[in-house]
Amino acid sequence: MLNYFSSTEIKTGILGGGQLGKMLLDVARRYDLFTRVLDPSADAPCKFGCKEFVQGSFNDYDTVMAFGRDCDILTIEIESVNTQALKDLEKQGKKVFPQPAIVELIQNKVTQKQFYTDHQLPTAPWFGFRNKAEMMKLINKHSFHLPFVWKAATGGYDGRGVSVIRNMNDLEKLPDVPGLIEELASIEHEVALVAARNEQGEIRAFPPVEMSFHPEANLVEYVYCPASLSEVKLSEASNIALSLVDRLGIVGVLAVEMFVNHDGQIWINECAPRVHNSGHLTIEACITSQFEQHLRAILGLPLGSPEQIRPAVMVNLTGEEGFSGPVVYEGAEKMLETQGAYMHLYGKTETRPHRKMGHVTITADTLDQARENAMKVKEILKVKSE
Ligand code: ADP
Repeated sequence: MLNYFSSTEIKTGILGGGQLGKMLLDVARRYDLFTRVLDPSADAPCKFGCKEFVQGSFNDYDTVMAFGRDCDILTIEIESVNTQALKDLEKQGKKVFPQPAIVELIQNKVTQKQFYTDHQLPTAPWFGFRNKAEMMKLINKHSFHLPFVWKAATGGYDGRGVSVIRNMNDLEKLPDVPGLIEELASIEHEVALVAARNEQGEIRAFPPVEMSFHPEANLVEYVYCPASLSEVKLSEASNIALSLVDRLGIVGVLAVEMFVNHDGQIWINECAPRVHNSGHLTIEACITSQFEQHLRAILGLPLGSPEQIRPAVMVNLTGEEGFSGPVVYEGAEKMLETQGAYMHLYGKTETRPHRKMGHVTITADTLDQARENAMKVKEILKVKSE
């Protein structure tokens, strides 16, 4: 077993150098790990927090192979990576967590949904197709009722690659790509749960959080914990997410997004084999953060307690509409007068409308208080350009 806590340099490589990597690095520095990060952007958020920064594409086979050769253990902070290279590095004896086969399964929304169906995990009724012509045939065959949801198999994130089809004309605008059609959920709550599993098979779950979305941008605007669901529903959602972790046998954290429908049914929407926006508040609200938990899981260390210490709300700081260019955080000083507000700026130099630039977690004695302060933070702090 590798001993990370000795003077021998054991190198942990991270594919992706964005904000998720930056927050992983905060913990890696505390543990004094030797970290290497691969990202195509010369001024990626991770550039200054790691020991070695390598500029290059995590989608390119040769680049990932060359990067991985000089690492002992590899992980990801983004799932659109070259999984063939990760599989080959795994064959060469490198530790790669999450396992590349799981990343590959999740990269494609069709294979991901198939996994839920094969394992009797609840999800919206659906069918997959290879192209538009096949989709049209299957819509008629399955007699799907309008409105329904179209999703591209690959390439979509943060709501891109997802369309609600309200009439048959909407189908014409869709690109001719493989994807799936699924039933429109009648959503009462959107919840997410981050859980971790280490190599030894130990599993720990954070409390489920509730998410609310920006109506136009399809991006998470607020995350609340505890979620406003009954104990029964919370434990049902947790059990579903935990069975997914167990069936995948993932090593690392898994974020599971779920719909709680008006009729009480819970459906898995999708999952991500990495630290996730819905788990950011664990940094201040829980005994162990999702970032520390992920590192513990992939390094084969004992998992920490996911217990929540304080009610919390997280607000994403996204670029205001109408502003593009070098970023200014208007009202940041004023916002810091809010007690219990923890500001995280990701270090991206340029803002664009709806780009994730940072987040603020607000903790308080009660969720109502945290929610009230979160609304104030949102009012005061604006991401604009110079
Ligand atoms: P992405 O991978 O881009 O995040 P998602 O599949 O999570 O895309 O969809 C984005 C959002 O669209 C979801 O959070 C949810 O609000 C809405 N959505 C997705 N699928 C459905 C569905 N079957 N029914 C209702 N709303 C949905």
